[in-house]
Amino acid sequence: MNESLNLDFEVPGSLEKNWQRILELLVELLDVNAGFITKVNSENLRVLKLNANEKIEIAEDDVIDLAEVYCQEAVKKEKMVEINDARSIEKWQDSVELEMGFISYLGIPVYYNQKKLFGTICVVDTEARRFTEKEKSILKEFKLSLENQLNNIQTNKKLKKQVEIIQSLLDSLTAHIAVIDRKGEIRFTNKAWDKFGEKNGLPSEEAGKGINYLKITREAKGKSSAKSEEAFEGIKSVIEGEKDLFTLEYPCHSPEEDRWFKMRVTPFWGSGINEEDYAAIITHEDITGRKEKEAFENNILNNLEEIIIYMSPDFKIKWLNQTALEYFDLRPEEFEGKFCYEKWGLKDYCPKCPIKKAKNTKKMASAIVKKPDGSYWKMKGIPDKDEKGNIKGYIETALDVTQRVKAEENIKEYNRALERQKQKLLQAKKKAEKASRAKSEFLANMSHEIRTPMNAITGLSELCLEDNLEEEKRCNYLRRINASSEYLLNIINDILDLSKIEDKKIDLKEEVFELDEVLEQTWLVIAEKAKRKPIEVLFSRPPEIPNRLVGDKDRMTQILTNLTKNSIKYTDSGEVVINVEMKEKTDDVIRYQFAVKDTGPGIPPEKQEEIFQRFSRAKDPTVAGKTGAGLGLAISQELVEMMNGEIWLESEPGEGSIFYFTAEFGRPEEEENQVISTPPEMDGMRVLVVDDNPSAREISEEYLQALDFKPEVVADGETALEKLKEARNSYELVLMDWKLPGLNGLETTQKIRGNPRIQSQPKIILVSAYEKEEIMTKPGYEYISDFMIKPFSPSSLFDTIMDVFGYSSRDIVQEQEQELSEEELMAGSDNRILLVEDNETNQVLAREILESYNYQVDIAEDGMEALEKVKSYQFDCVLMDIQLPDFNGYEATRKIRNEMGLSELPVIALTANVMEKHRREAENAGMNEMISKPIDIEEMLIKIKQETAKDN
Ligand code: ADP
Repeated sequence: MNESLNLDFEVPGSLEKNWQRILELLVELLDVNAGFITKVNSENLRVLKLNANEKIEIAEDDVIDLAEVYCQEAVKKEKMVEINDARSIEKWQDSVELEMGFISYLGIPVYYNQKKLFGTICVVDTEARRFTEKEKSILKEFKLSLENQLNNIQTNKKLKKQVEIIQSLLDSLTAHIAVIDRKGEIRFTNKAWDKFGEKNGLPSEEAGKGINYLKITREAKGKSSAKSEEAFEGIKSVIEGEKDLFTLEYPCHSPEEDRWFKMRVTPFWGSGINEEDYAAIITHEDITGRKEKEAFENNILNNLEEIIIYMSPDFKIKWLNQTALEYFDLRPEEFEGKFCYEKWGLKDYCPKCPIKKAKNTKKMASAIVKKPDGSYWKMKGIPDKDEKGNIKGYIETALDVTQRVKAEENIKEYNRALERQKQKLLQAKKKAEKASRAKSEFLANMSHEIRTPMNAITGLSELCLEDNLEEEKRCNYLRRINASSEYLLNIINDILDLSKIEDKKIDLKEEVFELDEVLEQTWLVIAEKAKRKPIEVLFSRPPEIPNRLVGDKDRMTQILTNLTKNSIKYTDSGEVVINVEMKEKTDDVIRYQFAVKDTGPGIPPEKQEEIFQRFSRAKDPTVAGKTGAGLGLAISQELVEMMNGEIWLESEPGEGSIFYFTAEFGRPEEEENQVISTPPEMDGMRVLVVDDNPSAREISEEYLQALDFKPEVVADGETALEKLKEARNSYELVLMDWKLPGLNGLETTQKIRGNPRIQSQPKIILVSAYEKEEIMTKPGYEYISDFMIKPFSPSSLFDTIMDVFGYSSRDIVQEQEQELSEEELMAGSDNRILLVEDNETNQVLAREILESYNYQVDIAEDGMEALEKVKSYQFDCVLMDIQLPDFNGYEATRKIRNEMGLSELPVIALTANVMEKHRREAENAGMNEMISKPIDIEEMLIKIKQETAKDN
């Protein structure tokens, strides 16, 4: 017996009985001695079932060599085999079967599982016989039935295996799984379910197989009771085929435990399964961990300083954290589904919002965004992507960083200020170094500058003292002495000025003055020099800017004169234009910008900063021989700074220079009453301007337009004549420059007056930088209506035009004061004057001058003597030096006023200190005027005249 032959599966008991019956039937139907069902492998045959109606020697489970039995033929041929008489077949002569007496045989192989050999079913008989077709087909039927049964066993086995696999699979899962039937009864559970039931205090008899799950759900207690009805309805809807899926998150049944589950109910589908038996699969997943994580995350998210918003791919809000809700002071439902930007109170998308970038790049983007209320927010846009990289939504975070941004700005500003300060310090250091170099250079220069005129003075005066000198030579020497002393005086004045400024000893006056006066004063100072060169000096100032200002007129004039003087000094030909512009006007102050522009040699860039430093000069060879002491610009700079202004220049060598400065002035309490306003009947009057200088034409045009006139400009006399002849609407006024190419102004005037075609003769104002006296004698002068000195200011243009057309112009008494003629100065000056002066030279000088103007001069050497003289004689005026040997001039004056009661006697101070402080002191002491030393003869005469005139 070969034990290795085993069936790879058990033949079920029911089948065994079946097979027994099959064989009984077969033996009976075919009327044979025996029937077998065998199991065969390649070598052996094992008898599984037999049925023999006579006693035979083979038993069930016998194993026989396959080669010994007839079945080998059926197995080999794979079909039904019939042996009618084995005795006549040689092959079977020694076979076991023949030995056992089986002579005939009918057998057929049996297969399972599609052509897998199982064995055979066969019959044998002890007699030779032939099997009928019917008998053969019966055997075939039985074979088929066997095969069917075998296949069924196989299928069932598979099914069972599958069920086992599924069971163990489900048991291996942590999810709790149960299958329920239509009534809700649990028909299947996995291990996790059973354990879960136990853990939740529901032993398997309560929650396991056979229990109605629908019922226990509805009756749930503890924390999950709140969700029990929802669960019941959901499960039912799946059982009844209304839903394909129902899910529910619910807290643990057990009141002791803090756990969460997610229930998932799906329909149970299965082929060949009785639908009545199974209806739905229920799984429970323990989501406590996730819930805890969520709660933790929510806790974090809600307590963050940042606003967090989750939005859909089309930017509609889906969720906001607590910070956001508090910031917007609203409930979540008020935002849900709204556009993200609506929460900020914006109609449109926030500019610069990083979400847009995040959308395009699919990456996190951030930006600092300024909201309309001025606050700054650090915003981040974070795309929320699924595993394939598609955008599911966006997370927006926003943090108010206003304070941080402001602090950073402050720091930046602070750093910039530091940097500026550093630069300033560096510059100051450089400046100081340069200044100290310049100072020592200056000392060397100065000694040279002072010695040169001093040498001339001492040398020439010695020569003058020689007895037998020709009168002409002596005069020549004296003129040179005079020039040298003037130069010396200028230098000394500059140095004194500077040192006063340096020691802060200069107080700026705060008095009302007129801008036009300053311009005219400047012209007066420079006119002589300007007229010696082919240079046109022009003022350009918008007529509408305020003329009356509060400030120090003299210092203002000094700055402008310094700059203009330089321009004229260094320019050989062309023009010098003084331009004024208003830069700022508030209730209290006016800031003007002045520009002095020339067509001179210009200043090389490397010298530009330097020339403002004291004692430094642009040692440019092109201006050699023209330089002064190098103090003018330094003084101007100091003065400008005192007026809260700045001074700078723009220049290119060969292109001329423009010196700019700004200055701040007060506004007078009484604003100027509109002086510059023409009578209405003059509105739109046609004026022809004749000037060859384009800047002059432009300026005149501007001034005239501001007066509401209609100016037209031409560049020469000939064109002017043509214009006048042609003009349909005649001109009422011509502003005629004197110096013109071709016909000059007077010649043109003559031609105009003599031309019959010019029917309506205009008034003609002649304009020139030359004195009236010089031109008055020239032919044609009798035809002009008036003369106007150039450069002119808008107010003098206005005054002249008004005069010409017979309207009264402004009161100009002040100017008259300075324009006293020689005769006027002499007139009535036989007054008696007391000169209080201790310096002998000054005594002689003053006496000489005054006496030459017919004054009687008495001299007092000190205060005491002065008082005595005043007591004894009657004087018309006292010229009082301030520094006297006994008591000073202030005290002497006080005594005159208080002790002697001479309140009317004019007392004029003579002083080298003309600072505001001294002026006030003089005023307090009762002095009437001040004359600065060294004495300017004209100034002294005018002041004496004024004071004595008042007295009279
Ligand atoms: P100075 O008494 O030498 O004129 P400033 O201080 O007024 O002294 O000027 C300093 C230097 O600046 C002058 O020596 C001259 O070289 C240069 N400078 C000033 N103004 C001009 C100008 N308008 N054109 C050319 N150079 C000028």
